[in-house]
Amino acid sequence: MRRLFCTCAAAIAAVGLLVSGCSSGGSGAGTASASQGPSDEPAKVVVLATGGTIASTHNEEGAVVPTVSGEELVATIRDRIGENVDVTVRQVAELDSSAMTLHDTDTVLSAIQDTFQDESVTGVVVTHGTDSMEESAMAADVFHADPRPVVFTGAMKAFDDPDPDGPGNLADAVNAAVDPQHRGQGAFISFGGDLLPARGAFKQHTSTTDGFASNAPADAQRPRALKYQPLAGTTVWTIASFPGAPRELIDHAVESGAKGIVVEGMGAGNVGTDFAAGIEDAMKKGVKVVMSTRVAQGPVEGVYGGAGGAATLFDAGVLGSGYLRAPQARIALAAALATQTDPAEVLGQQ
Ligand code: ASP
Repeated sequence: MRRLFCTCAAAIAAVGLLVSGCSSGGSGAGTASASQGPSDEPAKVVVLATGGTIASTHNEEGAVVPTVSGEELVATIRDRIGENVDVTVRQVAELDSSAMTLHDTDTVLSAIQDTFQDESVTGVVVTHGTDSMEESAMAADVFHADPRPVVFTGAMKAFDDPDPDGPGNLADAVNAAVDPQHRGQGAFISFGGDLLPARGAFKQHTSTTDGFASNAPADAQRPRALKYQPLAGTTVWTIASFPGAPRELIDHAVESGAKGIVVEGMGAGNVGTDFAAGIEDAMKKGVKVVMSTRVAQGPVEGVYGGAGGAATLFDAGVLGSGYLRAPQARIALAAALATQTDPAEVLGQQ
C-alpha cells in the first residue's frame, strides 16, 4: 500500500486532543512532568503520522499493511502522557517505510519544518516504519536547527497485535518531545524504552521490541545543521562489498549517474583489490565515495594498507563514515551533495 498525503497546511487532516491523563508515560523514555512552558499554557506536540507497523493491521492474507490513522494512534495514549499536553495529528503519509524514496523523505522533512513554523509547538513526534526510520531520523537531524525536539518512533508489532508496542512507544516519544532537557539536541529515536540520538542509531533486530541501538560514542558532537534543500534527485547509492566483489558494481553505479557512493565494506572499512580499483576510478570521475562497514558496532578506521585497505583508500580520498553505518552515511552524503557542503562536515569528520 502506498499513500502519500500533501503536507500543505490546508490539506492536512488535523485533530486536537487535550489530554488529561496523568500516569507516567509508556516504558519510560522521559516524562512530561517538566513539560509545560513558563506559563500554564499546555505543552503542544504535533504528531506527524507516516505509516509503518505502528499504523498497520493484518489483512485477510495475514500480511501487515498500513491502515490506521494518526488520530487512531494518538487515541491509544491519552492515559499515558502528561497532564496538560495538547496533541495534534497531521497525516503526512501512510507508507511502509521500506517503500519510501528520497521524495518521501523530503515530504517528511517539509512537514517537520512547516510544523515548527508555529512558535507555540513544543516538540514534534514522527510515527514511522522501522525499516528506514534511521534514514529519516538522520535526515531530520541533518537539517534541524530549531532547539525544539523532533522524536521518531514506531513499533515492531502491528496495531491489532494482542500486545502492541506502539502505544507505549508513542507515549514515550510524546513525553520526550515535551521534556525541556531534550531541547537543542536535534532528532531522536524513541523506541522500546530507549531514547537515542538519531545520529548513530540503527535498527538492530528484525523482530524484537528493543528494535534500535546506537553506535554513537558518548561524546559524539552534532555538526551544524544545514539549510534545507530537497534530497530527491541527488543520486547516492549504497553498494555492499564482499570477498571477491567485482568492480562492475561500482562501474555500474557511475554509469547510472550516481554522484555519490556509500560502500558497505568489511571489518573496519576494507574491500578487495578489484573493487578498490573501481572506487579509485569512480573518484577520478568526480564521484564522492564514503566507506562504511557491514559490521554493526565500532568505528570505520584506516587501519589496513594494501589495495583495498581503508588506510590506502582514505589516502586516495575516500571518506570514512566514522560511527555512522551505510544507511545514515548515504543520507549524510546526499545532504552534503544537495547543499554543496563538504561531505566530511556532514559526516562529522571535521
Ligand atoms: N516494514 C515496516 C516499515 O518499516 C516495519 C516496521 O514499521 O516495523 O514500515
